[in-house]
Amino acid sequence: MTAATPLQFGIDLGGTKTEIIVMSASGDTLLRQRNATPAHHYDAIVANIVSLVQQAQQQLPGDYTLGLGIPGAISPTTGLVKNANTTCLIGRDLQRDLEQALAQPLVIANDADCFALSEATDGAAAGKASVFAVIIGTGCGGGWVINGQLINGPNAIAGEWGHNPLLWRDDQDAQTDCYCGQRGCLETLLSGPGMRQQAYLETAIDQSSEQWFTQYQQQNPIAQQVFQRYHRRLAKALAGIINILDPHAIVLGGGVSNLDSIYQQVPQLWQEFVFSDSVSTPLLKAKHGDSSGVRGAAWLGAGAAHGYNTLS
Ligand SMILES: [Zn+2]
Repeated sequence: MTAATPLQFGIDLGGTKTEIIVMSASGDTLLRQRNATPAHHYDAIVANIVSLVQQAQQQLPGDYTLGLGIPGAISPTTGLVKNANTTCLIGRDLQRDLEQALAQPLVIANDADCFALSEATDGAAAGKASVFAVIIGTGCGGGWVINGQLINGPNAIAGEWGHNPLLWRDDQDAQTDCYCGQRGCLETLLSGPGMRQQAYLETAIDQSSEQWFTQYQQQNPIAQQVFQRYHRRLAKALAGIINILDPHAIVLGGGVSNLDSIYQQVPQLWQEFVFSDSVSTPLLKAKHGDSSGVRGAAWLGAGAAHGYNTLS
């Protein structure tokens, strides 16, 4: 007689919300709950995660695996959190603290990595041998999955394309300071706030990326020009990925992924920059939308229990 397959618990720790999901082995959602992240207090963040897991366990008792997506990464040299925009996490041993509190092993990954794993496992790129997935929202993150295996890398930064500079830069592409200390990072051009700033420099109109988006859908001619340039920058950025990795699919998530024109225009525009006579790379919209991060965390924990889905 074999033991029952453990339930798959996943948690997405965001800057404003913390979400838990419990999935069956086949990916069916059995429970989902979210609450506000106590973002400025480390001990409260840990207590909140412990409470979410314990409540879920009371409703669905039994063995479980646990994965956690965070807005940052675990430093392979120290084991502590780094690169987190929820800054009270930085320098903390989140893995040890949660494992001790829960008496349960868990796996932690960057939230964009969890997104990539979700879309590669049973999302838009299910069945593709290799998947590069990007989230463009307030930031510009990415993740890289080969044969269902999340690639982490010796520095835990695989997929962090947002802090590369724009390739094949035109004069109109501004080079502004990035919080990371560099200038002209993709994040300063492609993220929501970056797009707003760039559009302001081009048009002297200061409005949110959502407002630009609405005007674009209303065929406003200035917004159309803004998005023409945006499409071209995104095409250059993704062409750089294709030239290095040649992934079997690229998946887009975050607010920008709702822009339907991206999926027609960007693959036409990147032809000029990819070093190939033709480019057949599919550019796909995320299937699980906002749920991808938490689903990927659950897959991550379950896969790690079998020892197969991260590669440092
Ligand atoms: Zn940067």
